[in-house]
Amino acid sequence: MSGLEQLYQQIIMDHSKSPHGYGLAEGDVTSHQRNPVCGDEVTLALRWSADGTRVEEVAWEGSGCSISQASASLFATLAAEDADAGNAWTPDDLQAFIDEFREALRSRGQIPLDEERFGDAAALSGVSKFVARVKCAMLAWVAAEDLLTRRAAQS
Ligand code: ZN
Repeated sequence: MSGLEQLYQQIIMDHSKSPHGYGLAEGDVTSHQRNPVCGDEVTLALRWSADGTRVEEVAWEGSGCSISQASASLFATLAAEDADAGNAWTPDDLQAFIDEFREALRSRGQIPLDEERFGDAAALSGVSKFVARVKCAMLAWVAAEDLLTRRAAQS
C-alpha cells in the first residue's frame, strides 16, 4: 500500500469513528437512502441560508459500514469548510460536486477526486477500485441529490 493510500485509509477510519455533521433536528427536510447490499442507511438534510440560496450545513444520521458513514461525514465536512471559507454552495455548486464525485467513484480507479476541490473527501477516491463498495460511498451524495431534485420540483 502506498503512503497516500495509507493516509486515505486513516482519514476514512477517523471519520467513521468520529463522524462530522452527525445529528438531525426537528424541522430538517431529510432524504433517507438505503444500500440493501451492505445494510447501510443514511438520512441526510441540507440546511439552507435564510434566503434559501446556499447550503450552510449538511447534517445526517445513519448506520452501516465505515465507508458509507465516513463518506457522509466527509461530505458534511466539505460543505462546512466551503461555507466557512465564504463559498457556501449554491444548488448548482452542489450538483457539480455530486456529478464529479459520481464520475470519479464509477471510474474504477481511473479518475481520482481532485484534492483541491474535495479536501479530505478525496480519500474516497480509492473506493472506485472496489465496484461493490461504490454504492456505500455514494449513499450520502445520492441523498443530497434527492433533496436537490425535490427542491427544484417545488419551485
Ligand atoms: Zn457499505
